[in-house]
Parts: sequence; structure tokens; C-alpha cells
Amino acid sequence: MSVTVEKVAALCRRRAFVFPSSDIYGGLGSAYDYGHYGVLLRSNIKGEWQRSMIQERDDMVGLDSSIILNPKVWEASGHLATFTDPLVDCRTCKLRFRADDLEHAQCGRKPSKHPGETPDCDLTEPRAFNLMFETYIGPVRDSASVAYLRPETAQGIFINFKNVTSSMRVKPPFGIAQIGKTFRNEITPGNFIFRLREFEQMEMEFFVPPADGPKWHEYWIEERRRWHISLGLRESNVRLRPHDPDELSHYSAATSDIEYLFPIGWLELEGIAYRTDFDLVHHTEASGQKLEWIGHEERYVPHVVEPAGGVDRFMLAFLCDAYFEEEVAGRERTVLRLHPRLAPVKAAVLPLVGKSSEMVEKARGLYEELRQVMSTEYDADAAIGKRYRRQDEIGTPWGLTIDDQTLDDGTITLRDRDTLEQERIPLEGAKQLLLDRLEQPWSPPA
Ligand code: ATP
Repeated sequence: MSVTVEKVAALCRRRAFVFPSSDIYGGLGSAYDYGHYGVLLRSNIKGEWQRSMIQERDDMVGLDSSIILNPKVWEASGHLATFTDPLVDCRTCKLRFRADDLEHAQCGRKPSKHPGETPDCDLTEPRAFNLMFETYIGPVRDSASVAYLRPETAQGIFINFKNVTSSMRVKPPFGIAQIGKTFRNEITPGNFIFRLREFEQMEMEFFVPPADGPKWHEYWIEERRRWHISLGLRESNVRLRPHDPDELSHYSAATSDIEYLFPIGWLELEGIAYRTDFDLVHHTEASGQKLEWIGHEERYVPHVVEPAGGVDRFMLAFLCDAYFEEEVAGRERTVLRLHPRLAPVKAAVLPLVGKSSEMVEKARGLYEELRQVMSTEYDADAAIGKRYRRQDEIGTPWGLTIDDQTLDDGTITLRDRDTLEQERIPLEGAKQLLLDRLEQPWSPPA
């Protein structure tokens, strides 16, 4: 069995993870809406990021900055001048392509060929296309009211450097972490939620003494690689790729990508950039406000290391890694082997016989107890096998079944999503047992 993006997308739609956006109006290219389980999964991904970045560290603080900033920010950061992709037009088929990614594009007339490969293809010279979405502030639409939707969350962090250092007990090395929506007018979005025009980023800027920059860059590359694996990505599907000097972004002295082996190939999951003092220096020059660290005996502009990832892209990687189709006792099952901490629903409480009022009463009682501490579902409809399969497809790690024996001896069946083993456990201790299991390390079954 091999997982494909199409299979994952089909499951996502069927099981309310991801819907095509504006569906009743024919959709909007590469825009998606997240359904119930998508909301829960994304919230868990963001929660785990915040937990490892902020909660479990003593050198990090949070921030939530605006999407629309003063346009001077984008001038100073270099985005107005250089946040571009090379665009080519085909005069024959009238389609537009990214000149640096023609090998992944399809010719408009002959989809089996890449643009430029057929005698009819007539490509223009590449020109720089700025990826920032423009908008206007206020009622007058003129050049003075132009503003931009942020194409990265990072600049919101740099422009708050002074606010944070003067209000929080921080001292380099320290970081500011932020999660938020980002917008890029990508020339060729696609591959489901891999490349979107509206997406959510998780970025952290780590401010360090200049001499320590390279050391912290190495540290964060390993730390972030470890995070992805600790949440269940198989190690063999994750690799590091340092950028060649000619592909570095305008602000970066060195960047390494954490790549994931998506069904469409090895592609960037997260980038860890060594931004040096580029941003603080440029904002100091443009704003006239000194953005520097002032200690008791020292004064310097910190260097910055930035791990930057996307919620949507992480979600796709976790889903691809977790997706399995297998045969169990002669029947097909599709299962998402998500890390229990990422799973949208942790436990499903199932009365074996939905019409038995005694079983229903016990099951409702357990469900209401569990949902106070973890996302739990109650399901009394349909045959038990069908209910299990539904939970397998949304990745619920534990099924708790109330049956005749429960009424006799107070035990219930705990079914494990991955091994399919069933054990009898006391109903009384079920909540604590699951809470303990949620804290344990988990790795994908071999
Ligand atoms: P790419 O080379 O794929 O265009 P990038 O190098 O421009 O990406 P960064 O600016 O480093 O991307 O953004 C950091 C992270 O944000 C990426 O690693 C990815 O997880 C996410 N990301 C970037 N662009 C998109 C997009 N269009 N859709 C979804 N996620 C994105």
C-alpha cells in the first residue's frame, strides 16, 4: 500500500478534516476550510509547538502581532523589493509558471510535458513577481493607503523587540514565538494543503550574542528535527538539507531545511534560517529606533536564528505519515496512526448495545467524566465494527467499550488502535490510565 496525497485528501473530506473552500460556488483555487477534526488536529499541532517552544523553556516568550502592519515594515525588511518569485508566461496556452520550478509544472496544452518542452510552447523571459497581497486601509484607494497582508509573521516579532525586552525578564539568548495567519500570492499553489495562498505559520526568532549565532543555528536545526520525530514522523522520512549559497533568502547567511518525504517527493517542511542582524539593523535604520540589547556592561545588536514552519504543511506531513490501509480479519481498514497527543479525539466511548439503557447509562457517565480532561466521543449508533472503523479513520487511539461484563464486574474493554489488542480494565481507573498513556512517549509501530 502506498499513500498518495489524493487518498489523504479524500479521507480528509470524508471525515471532516478539510473541505474545499467556497465549494458551493465551484471552489477557489487551492483554498481550503478546516472541518471539526481538522480544527482539533491543528489545535493540537499548535499546542505541541507552543508547549515545546514556550511552556517547557525558560528562555522564550509569546507574541501575537497584527496581520496588517505599517507598510514601512515591508520596505525596511526588503520584502517590497525582493520577496518575489520568477514568473514566466506562456504566450500559447496563456498559463503562468514559476520559472524555477518548471519540472513540477504541466504544459497547458500537453499535460504530459513540462512548460517549454513542446514545439508550441512560447515562454516569456522570467520576471520578478511580488508575492505580497495588497489591500487598502480606509475609504480612499490611492497609493498612500496601500497596505499588505503579512507574508511572514517574523517581522511582527522584530518590530516588537523593544516592547518585549523592556517589559519581560529576557536576556539573550532568548526567543519570541508566534503563531498566525500568513498570505502569499503563490504563482502555483497546489498539492492539497502543501502550498496555499493563505496559511498559518509557527515562527520563532531567537536573539543571541553575535558570536554565538552559528552554534545556535545548529542547536535549533537539531531541536526542531527532534520535535517532528517525537510527534511520530518516522525518522526515515525526515532529512536535513542545507541551502546552496545561491538559493538563500535575502536576509539569510545560512539556512537548513527539514525535509519530509511527502508522497510527491522530498520537500521542505520547515526552514531554519540564520538571519544574522539583518532585520534589527534594517528596522533601526528605517525607524530611527535603536533595536539593540543593552546589558550592564555590554551593548550590541543580537543575531537571530529562526525556525519557521507551517501548520498546514505539518498537518499534511503528520497525516501522510499516519495513513495506512490494511486488512484485518479479512476486512479492509483505513487507519490514521497519529501520535495520541496529536489525535483529534483521544478516546471513543461505545456501549456495545446502544439500546441497553444500563450500558448507555454507564457509557454516558464515563464519557462525561473523560471529556472534562480530553477530547472524547460517544457513539452508540451502528454495529461495533463500523464504529471502530470510523474511529480508526479519524485516528482515535483508544476505544472504550461497555458491555454485559461491565454490568457484572465493573470492567470495560480498552481497544488499542495500532495493535488492535483488547484488554479489560476497571471502569473506575480508566480516566487516570488514559491520562498516563497520553504522557508516555509514542512511536509509530514498525
Ligand atoms: P517554499 O520554498 O516551499 O516556497 P519558503 O522557503 O518560501 O517555502 P519559508 O518562507 O521558509 O518558506 O516559510 C516557512 C514555512 O512556512 C515553510 O517551511 C512551510 O512549512 C510554510 N509555508 C511557506 N509557504 C507556504 C505555503 N504557500 N503554503 C503552506 N505553507 C507554507
